[in-house]
Amino acid sequence: MGDRLEFLRRGRAELGNLGVRVQASSAVYCTEPVGGPQEQQDYYNAVLQIEVDCSAPELLQICQAVEQASGRVRRERWGPRTLDVDILLFGTQHIATKALQVPHPRMFERRFVLEPLAQIAPFLVPPGCTEDIAATLQRLPETPKVGKVLRIW
Ligand code: ADP
Ligand code: MG
Repeated sequence: MGDRLEFLRRGRAELGNLGVRVQASSAVYCTEPVGGPQEQQDYYNAVLQIEVDCSAPELLQICQAVEQASGRVRRERWGPRTLDVDILLFGTQHIATKALQVPHPRMFERRFVLEPLAQIAPFLVPPGCTEDIAATLQRLPETPKVGKVLRIW
C-alpha cells in the first residue's frame, strides 16, 4: 500500500540498522495481485542477499521488527500491506517449526519470488532441490505476469 518503493527502501535500510549486512539487491519487480480483495495496486517485490551473525529465528524477529517499523497495517489476509519481509532461504538449513519454515514453502511456485531471486542467484540450488533457480523459474507458467520497475533502488 502507499508509496511502495519507499517502503522497500526503508525496509532495506532498517534491516541494515538492525545488523543485517545486505550483499546484493535484485531489481524491484511489479506483479499484479493474485486473489485477495479487488482493486488492489500491483505488488512490488525484491530479493536481498544478506549476511548475518544471528540464527534464523532471530532473523525472523528482525524481519518482523522491520515490518513494524514500516508501520505495517493489514486489514485482511492476502490483502494489501505496507511491507512484508520473508526469509526465503537461510544457507543450507531446513527449518520446519510452526513459526518458521525455510526454504519458504511457497517460493518455488511464485514467479514474483523466483524472478528477482534468479536475478541475483540464478545458479543457486536450494537445499532439497535438484535444479537451480533459473531452471525452476523456466518451468513456471508465464502468468501472473511479472514486470521490472527499477534496476537500482
Ligand atoms: P505472508 O508472508 O504469508 O503474507 P505474514 O507475513 O503475515 O504472511 O506471516 C505469517 C507468519 O508466517 C509469520 O508470523 C511467521 O511466523 C510465519 N513464517 C513461516 N515461515 C516464514 C518465513 N520463511 N519467513 C517469514 N515468515 C514466516
Ligand atoms: Mg511474511
